[in-house]
Amino acid sequence: MRDTYGRTIDYMRISITDRCNLRCRYCMPDGVELVPMSDILTFEEIVRIAAAAAEAGIRKFKVTGGEPLVRLGCPDLVGELKQIPGVEQVTLTTNGVLLSGYLDRLYEAGLDGVNISLDTLNRQTYEKITGRDELNEVLKSIDLTAEKGILVKLNCVLQKGLNAHEWGDLIRFTGERPIDVRFIELMPIGFGRKFEAVYNEELLEKLHTLYPDLEPDERVHGNGPAVYYRLPGAKGSVGFISAMHGKFCANCNRLRLTSRGLLKPCLCYEDSVDVGGIVRQKGIDGDEMKKQIQEAIRQAVTLKPECHSFEAPDGVTEQKRMIEIGG
Ligand code: SAM
Ligand code: SF4
Repeated sequence: MRDTYGRTIDYMRISITDRCNLRCRYCMPDGVELVPMSDILTFEEIVRIAAAAAEAGIRKFKVTGGEPLVRLGCPDLVGELKQIPGVEQVTLTTNGVLLSGYLDRLYEAGLDGVNISLDTLNRQTYEKITGRDELNEVLKSIDLTAEKGILVKLNCVLQKGLNAHEWGDLIRFTGERPIDVRFIELMPIGFGRKFEAVYNEELLEKLHTLYPDLEPDERVHGNGPAVYYRLPGAKGSVGFISAMHGKFCANCNRLRLTSRGLLKPCLCYEDSVDVGGIVRQKGIDGDEMKKQIQEAIRQAVTLKPECHSFEAPDGVTEQKRMIEIGG
């Protein structure tokens, strides 16, 4: 599918739950109101939407949340998505806490890669950020996943006054492993508005000072808007997802499906198309439902704006929280 600006849209992120086993302060602090369970799409509904999307041109799915692995049957869903004709890749974004226990099932389901969120290597700081003492479980998952031969990328959000100084440690951690680390700028979505981001421009400057010969790593590293660099002798690369100032929108290839079935053309804005309402209609036949889902998908593609405006004070109209959208 092509959007109004000529971009090919072939990637869909699917948030399968807004529940989570961590309480990251910028995403889901204690006491957050949750989406009623009855509003959350069933796996059957998700697969129906995904199959219609694949027929319309979506080739890659990312399963996200909330924490996707707290939803029972997540590996089965991965397997079902992989079986859809035309689907080339299914990946997962997880906090990694439960990952080691699901590795065999995810591998058998054909999972193509995992993004694991890790903002710090310090146990106390981990607990301050996530509200839970789970760092060791996550580190175990990272190593076991890589050993299993599943592609791993780490996602790291730096916050001023908390873990900002840890970027070097995280780069060294992944440099010793065949794992990429990507620094994602904290975005003013949901509770992210309350904390101060570290800008990737600053990080890159420091990295260039340390490694004057640093060069962009042009190899394709996935579906995302990250710009990658490789450090001398390192096994993994360092990526920068500069949501706040980097206008990576020219290469945007994605739609987002929220846990209650809203299709989002862009993370920054509240506009959405309700595909959940279509898949829950009673009394229409399968072909008619598929047609309506595909019309909704094309409408969402048409609504994709030219670019985000995260950098503008009033630029963000999205009021939903990240747990519902899936990052
Ligand atoms: N629970 C999973 C995880 O943590 O990877 C998947 C969902 S989580 C919402 C997806 C990603 O969004 C995580 O890497 C998280 O750090 C990031 N995230 C959450 N809120 C954010 C914000 N306001 N700005 C930037 N990234 C954010
Ligand atoms: Fe949960 Fe992921 Fe949000 Fe942290 S970032 S609270 S792990 S959904």
